[in-house]
Amino acid sequence: MRNDELLALDRAHVWHPYGPMPGRTDPLVVESASGVRLRLAEPVHGQAELIDGMSSWWSALHGYNHPVLNEAAHDQLGRMSHVMFGGLTHEPAVRLATRLVEITPEPLRHVFLSDSGSVSVEVAAKMCLQYWRSVGRPGKQLLMTWRGGYHGDTWQPMSLCDPEGGMHELWSGVLQRQVFVDAPPVTYEESYARMLREQIALHADEVAAVIVEPVVQNAGGMRFHPPEYLRVLREACDEHGVLLVFDEIATGFGRTGTLFAADRAGVSPDVMCLGKALTGGYLSMAATLCTTEIAEGISRGEVPVLAHGPTFMGNPLASAVACASIDLLMSQDWELEVKRIEAGLREGLAPAAELPGVREVRVLGAIGVVQLDHDVDMAAATEAAVRAGVWLRPFRDLIYTMPPYVTGDEDLARICAAVRAAARAG
Ligand SMILES: *Cc1c(COP(=O)(O)O)cnc(C)c1O
Repeated sequence: MRNDELLALDRAHVWHPYGPMPGRTDPLVVESASGVRLRLAEPVHGQAELIDGMSSWWSALHGYNHPVLNEAAHDQLGRMSHVMFGGLTHEPAVRLATRLVEITPEPLRHVFLSDSGSVSVEVAAKMCLQYWRSVGRPGKQLLMTWRGGYHGDTWQPMSLCDPEGGMHELWSGVLQRQVFVDAPPVTYEESYARMLREQIALHADEVAAVIVEPVVQNAGGMRFHPPEYLRVLREACDEHGVLLVFDEIATGFGRTGTLFAADRAGVSPDVMCLGKALTGGYLSMAATLCTTEIAEGISRGEVPVLAHGPTFMGNPLASAVACASIDLLMSQDWELEVKRIEAGLREGLAPAAELPGVREVRVLGAIGVVQLDHDVDMAAATEAAVRAGVWLRPFRDLIYTMPPYVTGDEDLARICAAVRAAARAG
């Protein structure tokens, strides 16, 4: 298909994320991708290839077209790409679930596989509410979270995103009411910790679980908070009979410098959601892990099953690639790679702090953020990054990068230069 033809059809028929219909700006047409590079169908602003500073929304840890992941996919494709999971099972899903139990905090022992992060959050909420119902506390129907979070775009996760200023603000009043507390401060403050304890105690009769993104709030604003708050949540939840859910869909698989952000606090949640990087960015898949107490609680209830079963649950192709991606990650010194990227981002982004309009530069693990004091001019910032040979997708007042861990030092320096250029332009 010719590029102009493709774009005309795209505009006429294809909805893009968080976009209007028809779209107002043409997306870039990607023909293929390899390593950390996206190859464009036609050069744009003189660039035929772009270094991917986004890991395709934080998922492509190992870069694109990786021989090991390709082989896992080909191999599984030759057996079966899918088979239903009701009444049937298969080695890829069993191996994946077992592997996830091995690498996540100890009390998580049971795995519900689904097809996207949002669905894994739906499943987490259902598990928590149903657990309390099963053990005779049906009044615990709400979830508690702190502001500034993001948990997905389906209905229940939307109700957990910050109701003010978040992307789902339109629906406040329509969505399920949840219990919100202030967003976590960037440093440890005893008064905030005390407030968390008090609010958990106050709402313990109606709250089934506290759900948070540990250490990094991602699509809600790319904010970092001290792991100590997770310990406070764990203690207060234990004391008052509230479950704790960590949404590690963005932070899992090493992104913050530890395998899971929970590891930074030495805290285990009762339920954990994983997604995004689970398949190394190859296929859509997510997982909800829970403790034996929750699983047994549900199974002792009046309806002793978890009534959830996506058509593509446990998809063999995605499971096989996920296993290969996890093995590939664990077979290398990924901690060293993430540290290297962290150092490169610190060095490369520091000068951005001096630019006019820049409010703050922050880096944690393989996450680099430049926050402006105004909303980003998306078109100008994106164009500046493309001219610098890099793909970035800013939002709100944020220009950020989450590069693949395989990004070399030179490419990393180019990503940093592009972030600085985007901050200047945007
Ligand atoms: C991306 C994300 C989700 C939603 O995942 P989808 O696969 O897009 O449905 C949920 N929680 C967090 C923390 C995320 O970053």
